[in-house]
Amino acid sequence: MSTDRTSTQIHLARRPTGWPVDDDFRRVEVDLGELQPGEVRVRNELLSVDPYMRGRMNAGRSYVPPFELDAVMTGAAIGRVVASRDDGLVEGDLVQHELGWRDVAQAPAAAFRPVREVPGVPASAHLGVLGVTGFTAWLGLTEIAHLREGDVVLVSGAAGSVGSIAGQIAKLLGASRTIGSAGGPEKARLLTERYGYDTAIDYKAAPIRQQLRAVTGREDGEGIDVYFDNVGGDHLEAAIEVFNDGARAALCGAISSYNADRRVPGPDNLWLLITRGASMRGFTVPHYFPHFPAFLEQAVPWVQDGRLVHDETIREGFDGVVDAFLDLMRGANTGKMLVRL
Ligand code: NDP
Repeated sequence: MSTDRTSTQIHLARRPTGWPVDDDFRRVEVDLGELQPGEVRVRNELLSVDPYMRGRMNAGRSYVPPFELDAVMTGAAIGRVVASRDDGLVEGDLVQHELGWRDVAQAPAAAFRPVREVPGVPASAHLGVLGVTGFTAWLGLTEIAHLREGDVVLVSGAAGSVGSIAGQIAKLLGASRTIGSAGGPEKARLLTERYGYDTAIDYKAAPIRQQLRAVTGREDGEGIDVYFDNVGGDHLEAAIEVFNDGARAALCGAISSYNADRRVPGPDNLWLLITRGASMRGFTVPHYFPHFPAFLEQAVPWVQDGRLVHDETIREGFDGVVDAFLDLMRGANTGKMLVRL
C-alpha cells in the first residue's frame, strides 16, 4: 500500500499481440512530490475496466489516442480528495476523473469533477448506468438506430454493462419485443428474469445464426427492426440475416475481434442491406457528449424508481485490476465491471 505521497500505478509495458498477458503491464511506484498550488491529491476508491482499453493498447488510430508505452493505463475512476491546494475542492470531496489505474492521483484541479449526488443511487453508478456505458446504450438506440415505437430490438452482449441497460431502455422507449444474446445459461436466465428481455439466446449453446433464425421466425418475415451490436463477427452476420425491411443497426462494439491476432473477415451477407433497405451506423460516444444532459434527464428517474435496474461485478483490491480487465473480455462480468480499492 502506498502512502498518500506515492502512487502505485499500472503502466503499459509493451503492446500486445492477441490476448494481453501479465508482461504487457508493469506495476510502478511513483513519488508524487509536494502538492503544488492549484493541485489536488485523490485516493481512488473505484476504477473502471472497459473493453475499449484493449484497442488503446494497440498503436495506431482509434477514436481515442493509444495508451503511451511506459505510461499509466488511463480511464474512468472515482476517488476522494485527501489533500487540496485548490479553492474549489476540499478534503473529503468525492470526485470523478480519467486518470485511470493508480491508487493515488495527483493533478491540477481541472482534472477532477465532483461526483454529482443522485439521491438513492450509489456513486458507482456514474461509472456505469448513469455514466458512459448507460449513455452509450441510450445513444445507440435513440440518435443512431432511431428506435421507433413497436420495433423489435436485438442486443448482443446483452448481460454486459452496455447491453443490460440497452435492452431495458429499448423497452422503456416503446420496443415491442427485445431479444438479447449472452454467453452461458446463467446469463441467459438473467436476460429475461432481470433485464426484461422477452427472449434470451445463449450464443455458446449453438451457432447464433441458427438460434436467431429460430427465435425470430425470419422465414415468415418476422425479423428485427433494430440491432444494437456490442460483439460484431458472427453476431453481426446473424443479425443481418434477420433484418426486416428498413432495419437499422447501431454498431457500438466488436468485442469478438478485439483480441484477434489477425484481421477478421467481414459479414458474408452485406448484400441483404440492399434488398431490405437496411442501414448500419457506427458511433463512439465522445462525438455525442452534448446529448449527455438529455440522457440524464430521462435515465435518472428510471434508475431512481427502479424501472432501469443495473448490476455491477466488483473485484476487490488494486492488485486485481489487470485480471479484472482480462476477465471482463472473457465474460466474467454481469453488468459493469469495477475494481474497488
Ligand atoms: P461488457 O460489460 O459487455 O463486457 C464485455 C462482454 O463481452 C463480456 O462480458 C462477454 O459477455 C462479451 N464477449 C466477450 N467476447 C465475446 C465474443 N467473442 N462473443 C460474444 N460476446 C463476447 O462491456 P461494455 O458494456 O463496457 O462494452 C460492450 C461493448 O460496447 C464493447 O464492444 C465496447 O467496446 C463497446 N463500447 C462502445 C462504446 C462506443 O462509444 N461506441 C462505448 C462503450 C462501450 P458474454 O459472457 O456474454 O460473452
